[in-house]
Amino acid sequence: MVGWIHDLPVYNGVLALESADELILILPDGRRSSFPPGVTPLEVARRFSPEVAERATCARVGGVLWDLSRPLERGGEISFLTFDDPEGREVYRHTAAHVLAQAVKRVFPEARLAIGPPLEDGFYYDIDPGRSLDPDDLLRIEEEIGRIVEEDLPIRREALSREEALSLFRERGEDYKVEMIREIPPGEEITVYRQGEFVDLCRGPHLPSTGRLGRVKLLTVAGAYWRGDERRPMLQRIYGTAYETPEQLNAHLQRLEEARKRDHRRLGRELDLFSLQEEGGGGLVFWHPRGAAVREVIEEFWRKEHRRRGYQLVYTPHIARLDLWKVSGHWDWYRENMYPPMELEGVDYLLKPMNCPLHILIYRSRVRSYRDLPLRWAELGTVYRFERSGVLHGLLRVRGFTQDDAHIFCREDQLEEEVAGVLDLARFMLRSFGFPDWELTLSVRDPQKKEKYIGGDAVWEKAEEALRRALERLGLDYRVEEGEAKFYGPAIDVRLKDALGRGWQGPTIQVDFNLPARFDLGYTGPDGRIHRPVMVHRTVLGSLERFLGALTEQCAGAFPLWLSPVQVRVLPVLERHLPYAHSVLARLREEGFRAEVDGRPEKLSARIRDAQMEKIPYMLVVGDAEKEGGAVSVRARAGGQKGTLSLDEFIRQLREEASWPSL
Ligand code: ZN
Repeated sequence: MVGWIHDLPVYNGVLALESADELILILPDGRRSSFPPGVTPLEVARRFSPEVAERATCARVGGVLWDLSRPLERGGEISFLTFDDPEGREVYRHTAAHVLAQAVKRVFPEARLAIGPPLEDGFYYDIDPGRSLDPDDLLRIEEEIGRIVEEDLPIRREALSREEALSLFRERGEDYKVEMIREIPPGEEITVYRQGEFVDLCRGPHLPSTGRLGRVKLLTVAGAYWRGDERRPMLQRIYGTAYETPEQLNAHLQRLEEARKRDHRRLGRELDLFSLQEEGGGGLVFWHPRGAAVREVIEEFWRKEHRRRGYQLVYTPHIARLDLWKVSGHWDWYRENMYPPMELEGVDYLLKPMNCPLHILIYRSRVRSYRDLPLRWAELGTVYRFERSGVLHGLLRVRGFTQDDAHIFCREDQLEEEVAGVLDLARFMLRSFGFPDWELTLSVRDPQKKEKYIGGDAVWEKAEEALRRALERLGLDYRVEEGEAKFYGPAIDVRLKDALGRGWQGPTIQVDFNLPARFDLGYTGPDGRIHRPVMVHRTVLGSLERFLGALTEQCAGAFPLWLSPVQVRVLPVLERHLPYAHSVLARLREEGFRAEVDGRPEKLSARIRDAQMEKIPYMLVVGDAEKEGGAVSVRARAGGQKGTLSLDEFIRQLREEASWPSL
């Protein structure tokens, strides 16, 4: 019998009166209630509220996520999660992944299963069907998913011994599962989830039955190496998503379509901005003239702004002696991300994975005094880092990239001012490039594990305080992440939000107590003694490659006028208007604009359409009348016909509109 008992006494959060034949639960509305042992959260939910029971995906009992259909083992606070909670949504999508795997096994009984986790927007499952899958296969699998949802199979959790689990999956020929079971640490509970004829190795929790799923949609299939290791078998990764209602699903599919249109890899090809070529090496970026034109503006803007804010520009080599990376410590903990050393005249050199030690050598090249500080040295420094070919992705994960790097060497008492300066610069740059939304995190020490960090207590406290004050001085909202700091200093990280609400890694500010000590940096203080400077590593754009990717997606390839690779295209109506078109072009170039003439023998309407496809901000059509009057007929990328203007007037307006963002 399930009974309600109100007002049970609680001592220090532990319920009294709990005994072997009753279980005390504190319901979401605060009521305390007694249940027989073995009651399931679903039964509790039904007593509590039928709507909650209907929508819940799992329960949280005493802080632990629990299957709705799994008998409760102890009492405590119970709450119910739904699709609206991130964790509840994960359970929902994870169940969809299991249903996908079950459907795959029905359609391809020989297929072997690897892993199938939920993602932020959906889920995937890696399977090995012995061949590549095509869209028709996905349709067949999706139909089978529909049947499994229809069948409303109960989903049951089961704990197994290691031997039982191994023999269960060995019998089924699931080699990948067997490999995973072998890696589960001793003492950890091994659980499987069953639904109908299907069973999967899984920690759970899951929905109570397959019929609880609303809309499941398979999206794509792509090759993926088992464990991301190109020496292991190539699996088929099926991506899908699941929503409660068709409306939610359709809205999501529309967002995906928008993201696909904005994909920088696609736009990079269509707009001829850049390429990555196997022939040239994976993860290495070729900037085509148009992409290079955008980069040139970004770089020039970046340099001008840095000079204005008291930075000095430096250049350092692309390779340097390996010994330097031993002193810095990178050789010890970063080696697998570096290109292997090359030996020259008995000395080992490395392609630089970062610029810091090289800037340090400049610092150390002479005696520094407290009056010299702060020193702010910036470099668009090209670095090379090894990434497995399996993880390379367009401009976002590459092997060679140019950081907009800078190192600030300052006194402890200057740290707040310097960090505030970087934050202000970052804010200005991001706004200028059209990213008004971002999220800030301040990563500080784990106060329980102070021994993990180098530098004394006092230094850390002062540094963390300086970062906090800098953030507050600028009135910025931020989240504090305890224990997220690197061992060598606190940091501030910025995540950009793009037009589709997706996050991009943005500026980072990293305080470093480690490298100044390792390289024994010093400056002479007013007391005549040698002091240790604080070093701040920072980037604002991150890397020019990734930033071009973000920028391209943010503006969907329609770069604002000041950044457009081609700002104006001149279109002569007929061949006889070519000389006038070229005189207009010469004038525009003279004025510093990026312009070109499209004098191909194609129809004017076709050339206008091409210019629009290439998202060129202005088209100038020139025929007899324009030539006569020294004029141009203006068409804008957005808004069509702008009428006829004298060339002088057009240039005046263009100059105004194309001016660089300023404070
Ligand atoms: Zn650095």
